[in-house]
Amino acid sequence: MALDSAGDTSLLLDNEDVLPVHEDNAAGSSPFLLTADHYGRLIPRVLGDLGLPASELTRHIAWDIGIAGVAGALSKHLDAHLIAQRYSRLVIDCNRPPRAPGSIPRISEATTIPGNEGLARDAIEARHKQIFDPYHRRIAEVIEQRLRDHRPTVLVSLHSFTPVYAGIARPWHIGTLYHRDTKLPPLLLKLLRAEADLVVGDNEPYAVSDETDYTIPVHGEARGLMNSGIEIRQDLIADPAGQASWADRLARIFGEIETMLRARRIV
Ligand SMILES: [Zn+2]
Repeated sequence: MALDSAGDTSLLLDNEDVLPVHEDNAAGSSPFLLTADHYGRLIPRVLGDLGLPASELTRHIAWDIGIAGVAGALSKHLDAHLIAQRYSRLVIDCNRPPRAPGSIPRISEATTIPGNEGLARDAIEARHKQIFDPYHRRIAEVIEQRLRDHRPTVLVSLHSFTPVYAGIARPWHIGTLYHRDTKLPPLLLKLLRAEADLVVGDNEPYAVSDETDYTIPVHGEARGLMNSGIEIRQDLIADPAGQASWADRLARIFGEIETMLRARRIV
């Protein structure tokens, strides 16, 4: 457990660390713009293992298990641009406002993260400047370019949730997360509920708020884009077959939504 350098990390990412932003299908023609804040579970080399055993670093506290496979396939099926973040949310949570508790979590579920204890200001800033900022700057740039090009843009923020949190089992297979948008979430809920085999959460297991979320409030709501988050239960997308089947299902549903929006001349 290498923590020696965790307190002084003004240079967080070095030449051997990959960049935080991952993109698929940047030239995609779809109105849907996909994001995945918790896509990866990398840790910058200088932070070692954050003082955690491998068993913790592969759990849901580190990333959204299964979402990378779903997001990649969905991007392909829809011909939609995907912007995703490769570093673990234990390093910095890219869906938390920078000053929110939990932005750099000291405890996640019941796990204390030793590498996040007592961080100096420059270490905190390095995580913001080198991981959080480039990711959100890229999403902003892409949205601005699309608006300049008069391209319709519907923001869909992809997440997955653990089937059991703090000992409580969650019954939903999938949930929508939203706050101010009144257009996309009802359509999405209607079509998901039409799937006979699904238990669908309406702002379950999480809801969106300005205090706890970043991507939807800042990139979706503040710009007036139609938007929704989606949460898929992790046991359903733990393997490639589950990821492929959920990507197929969501591609079909978003295809129907696109048809409805085009009929209403919204996109
Ligand atoms: Zn997530």
